Amino acid sequence: MNQNHADPPLAILAELTHRCPLRCPYCSNPTALVGRSGELSTAEWADVFRQAADMGALQVHMSGGEPAARKDLEKLCQAAVDAGLYINLITSGLMIDGARLDRLAAIGVPHVQLSVQGSDAAMCDAVGGYDGAFAIKQDFARAVVARGISLTLNAVLHRANCHQAGDMITMARDLGAARIEVAHTQYYGWGLLNRDGLLPSRDQLDDVTRIVEQARKDSGADLQIDYVVPDYYAETPKACMAGWGRRFLTISPEGKVLPCHAAETVDHLTFDTVRDKTLSEIWYDSPAFNTYRGTDWMPEPCQSCDLKEVDWGGCRCQALALVGDAGATDPVCSKSGQREKLLDALTDAAVSPKAGPDIWTYRQF
Ligand code: SF4
Ligand code: SF4
Repeated sequence: MNQNHADPPLAILAELTHRCPLRCPYCSNPTALVGRSGELSTAEWADVFRQAADMGALQVHMSGGEPAARKDLEKLCQAAVDAGLYINLITSGLMIDGARLDRLAAIGVPHVQLSVQGSDAAMCDAVGGYDGAFAIKQDFARAVVARGISLTLNAVLHRANCHQAGDMITMARDLGAARIEVAHTQYYGWGLLNRDGLLPSRDQLDDVTRIVEQARKDSGADLQIDYVVPDYYAETPKACMAGWGRRFLTISPEGKVLPCHAAETVDHLTFDTVRDKTLSEIWYDSPAFNTYRGTDWMPEPCQSCDLKEVDWGGCRCQALALVGDAGATDPVCSKSGQREKLLDALTDAAVSPKAGPDIWTYRQF
């Protein structure tokens, strides 16, 4: 059987822009951000949505940066609806007032995912680097629910705020969210740059896990609680993007088509843009998607491992970041011969267990 066969993508992540009013030090955007002048136009994005739907994609995650930093967000959402795509709008909530939300609701945006940086104003505003962000987010969340749009809170946890995990779950319930994703920071982009100031301790992680498990029992079916643990404390890697080039693709603000949002760090690959080729040509035929698609590329111990079609060898960007080789077994795996690189990172973080604005490098252009 050819394990490198490609099915159509199920969903696309449209990074409409890198512009954002917040400056989160855990942001997974690349440290070299794309400016406004490099972004795809309204017509180019609309064409991308049509192509994705024609290929069989069902869903578009409108993301960024802050997607609402695009003045044409309503036109882009309309184009996605016209193409037949289900929209998940991923936002900081800071650039969508009531009138704009009315327009998005009328277009048919069914689901909003709102990032939260803390359970109170002091934490939320400090992490996002924006005074007043917490209050605006609270109002925005209520306005989303009031319009009958399904709301997910995306609580991003790290060393400085993970003691607030329980309060963030309570906040999601109080705001009427249908779901909360309690997600530990993943270390890409600015998050990797700030890793030593963000990684929680093992005890902190265990506390959060206990809180989430208890909250799931208490909430029942009223609130769906999803939990993403930091890879660094795992024994087997996650199936990153459900496997390279298997289900998802990301399109950067300037139109580069990527197997995941961090893939540009794999700099020996060339990523085509939708300005040069069709989405279908890039998905099925480009070396960028085929190099790590399926299982043929895998080294040992993955090649003879029973889990190779479960986790697909883990994360290529993480292998590159930690061991300098995107084709290596993800060092999160206990069978990796280079797991000491991951353990070194945990040791480095434990040596200086500080957290907060004084030691973070905030996201900036
Ligand atoms: S993580 Fe923070 S800074 Fe990065 S895009 Fe999201 S809201 Fe903006
Ligand atoms: S050896 Fe490879 S396929 Fe097996 S669990 Fe580890 S990373 Fe996954």
